[in-house]
Amino acid sequence: MKSPDPGQPPAHLADCEPDEWASWAASLGLPRMRLAQTARHYFTHLSRSAADMTDLPAAERQRLTEKLLPDLVRPVTEQLADSGQTIKTLYRLHDATAVETVLMTYPGRATLCLSSQVGCAMGCPFCATGRLGLKRNLSAAEMVDQVRQAAAAVRQGVFGTDGPDRLSNVVFMGMGEPLANYRATVRAVRAIGRPPGSGFGISLRHLTISTCGLVPAIERLAGEGLPVRLALSLHAPDDALRDQLVPVNRRFGVARTLAAAYQYYQATGRRVSIEYALMRDINDQAWRASLLAERLCQYGTGWVHLNPIPLNPVAGSVWTASRPKMQDRFVHRLEVSGLAVTLRETRGQEIDGACGQLAAKEVLN
Ligand code: SF4
Repeated sequence: MKSPDPGQPPAHLADCEPDEWASWAASLGLPRMRLAQTARHYFTHLSRSAADMTDLPAAERQRLTEKLLPDLVRPVTEQLADSGQTIKTLYRLHDATAVETVLMTYPGRATLCLSSQVGCAMGCPFCATGRLGLKRNLSAAEMVDQVRQAAAAVRQGVFGTDGPDRLSNVVFMGMGEPLANYRATVRAVRAIGRPPGSGFGISLRHLTISTCGLVPAIERLAGEGLPVRLALSLHAPDDALRDQLVPVNRRFGVARTLAAAYQYYQATGRRVSIEYALMRDINDQAWRASLLAERLCQYGTGWVHLNPIPLNPVAGSVWTASRPKMQDRFVHRLEVSGLAVTLRETRGQEIDGACGQLAAKEVLN
């Protein structure tokens, strides 16, 4: 196990692949079996409490917890919205920085939106996270522990007796650009998907990685053999506007970004989601819907699913959501081109828990 980079949290079992357990255990003077037993508590019983580890020698439990499962992600506050169906949690990290997650329930499923970085370097002007700038990358374990705590909450019935009893979906759409933290993100994905005992056993087909369009990283992800869904935050079909809304577009351009997304579909067989935040009088014109359809349809219609969503307001921002009539017209233009389109509902808006609103402001301001 490599010692963590400066500023990074202490090493944690969830940073390790199972084939690294033996060497890490040896460096700590532990039998490998102890890592496997501790991992079972963490991933299967969703616990990092020494008191729960009754199959381990009492004298060793505390040390194992401290060495293998340091407390990386501490919940500070929780806010509810949408009649308790959306829960935003603010977590404090080891260096007093903070991130947020949003846990949502829908009929038959529970979805966690997790954070991959403290802040974000991508600078999209309509996004609260982007305004923070990048503080640091999260480690794989810091992402995995967000999932563990959400999975434990769902298992314990946070959504009531009629709600789902297991966390079924994870989306990397919270704070940060996950593909700018590539190595840790892929490690976290593998841990989330591994079978119980060394992972949470959540189907990788139920994981979504969102990106603003880091083309080389999309191409690399396509070669990982992970059947995760890719969500591309496009927000504009033309370079003139996308260069302003998503500044990384100045490096890659819309054509190259869409080509990488299509390549991802070809490599994985997973339909790509195109996210499009509808902003009043900015990107919601009918002609832009037609241009968007044209650019997507150059590769056919079956490879992509469009998710327009009315922009979520951010305090102090000039950007606002499209009018409903414009939204409907935009969606209609796409649908008549034969594209699959779902106008997404906004969730958690009143607690700043919706897309683009996460800023962990209670700790960072
Ligand atoms: S929209 Fe996404 S990529 Fe852009 S600044 Fe916000 S978190 Fe970063």
